[in-house]
Amino acid sequence: MSDAIAKSSTPFSPQAESSSSAQNDPDSLIRNVVIIGSGPAGHTAAIYAGRANLQPLVFEGFQKGGIPGGQLMTTTEVENFPGFPSGVMGGQLMAQMKEQSVNCGAELIMEDVVSVDFRDRPFTIQSTSHTVKAHSVIIATGAIAKRLNLPSETKYWNRGISACAVCDGAAPIFRGVELAVVGGGDTAAEEAIFLTRYGSKVHVLVRSDRLRASKVMQDRLLSHPKIMVHWHSLPIDVYGEEIVQGIKIRDAITNEERDLAVGGLFYAIGHTPNTDLFVGQIDLDENGYIITKGKSTATNVEGIYACGDVQDHEYRQAITAAGTGCMAALEAERWLSAKLASLLQ
Ligand SMILES: Cc1cc2nc3c(=O)[nH]c(=O)nc-3n(C[C@H](O)[C@H](O)[C@H](O)COP(=O)(O)OP(=O)(O)OC[C@H]3O[C@@H](n4cnc5c(N)ncnc54)[C@H](O)[C@@H]3O)c2cc1C
Repeated sequence: MSDAIAKSSTPFSPQAESSSSAQNDPDSLIRNVVIIGSGPAGHTAAIYAGRANLQPLVFEGFQKGGIPGGQLMTTTEVENFPGFPSGVMGGQLMAQMKEQSVNCGAELIMEDVVSVDFRDRPFTIQSTSHTVKAHSVIIATGAIAKRLNLPSETKYWNRGISACAVCDGAAPIFRGVELAVVGGGDTAAEEAIFLTRYGSKVHVLVRSDRLRASKVMQDRLLSHPKIMVHWHSLPIDVYGEEIVQGIKIRDAITNEERDLAVGGLFYAIGHTPNTDLFVGQIDLDENGYIITKGKSTATNVEGIYACGDVQDHEYRQAITAAGTGCMAALEAERWLSAKLASLLQ
């Protein structure tokens, strides 16, 4: 059935389009499914939709909300993605996912989507230089880990500074040394407790005199023998030779500065989901994440699905993003098939 849907649409070809007068004519192209984003969620959705013969079109992104390939492009070794017993470089993993998407029949355009219209069907997706119509859309625009923008942050990123304890905590450089976590919410508490498995001691830097974490997480954090909380403490820079060897901290009340010798600094100050585009188009929660229904990837608009970090503030892992990307493609395919069946009746 999905084959028939694919044939009922006009295949999109950027090359053919640029030489025709149909360029940017929204009515000339109706896609079965457009995927926005090229991280693990977007590429997995593309692989499944491609194999279902839906001829998916993927807007990979360019500079809005990250880079093509997504967050893993900003890291070095990924050690927890199944199938790579010795680990894999983030860039290599994403290059392989991209190749697999193309092999499965996805078409890729390396452009940002700049606006969408989900009020009328088919839906309209506008990128930097294309206007595309689609029966269904899979949103996989991910999220961005907030950074502190410390003066030496770029130099030490992946050399002792990380935005993901679950991803990086087990790395050799963090084992048996003192570590620090910055943040005062549930994520900071969870990450600090997680890091006690590897670090000899974990310092938690909190900018005020209280934690925002839930009561149960506060209790676990404050009673943990390997954790020390530093109140009204702001990291102002990191130092070290090749890798982080310590943090400069300012007291938020006295303004006094001091050094704290640690071998790693983990940011747990939140993420920003890439959903500016979708404000007013689909339901978002109070933090801007896309709301999906129950265990599915369906949004409040029929035919629009969301997968990966853009709808997940809990797990935020490449494998969970890929898993929900698979779900989104399967759900879109079923929805398209049902839609076609109803049209044929
Ligand atoms: C430094 C770091 C290290 C990490 N290490 C690990 C690890 O070791 N293991 C692990 O499992 N997880 C790790 N993670 C988490 C993992 O990277 C994410 O959970 C995963 O990438 C989420 O995938 P995603 O596809 O949902 O989104 P992302 O990877 O964030 O991809 C989002 C995509 O959307 C695109 N996009 C955004 N806006 C637009 C737009 N307007 N138009 C078109 N495209 C757009 C972006 O270009 C990007 O391609 C790490 C994260 C970071 C930041």
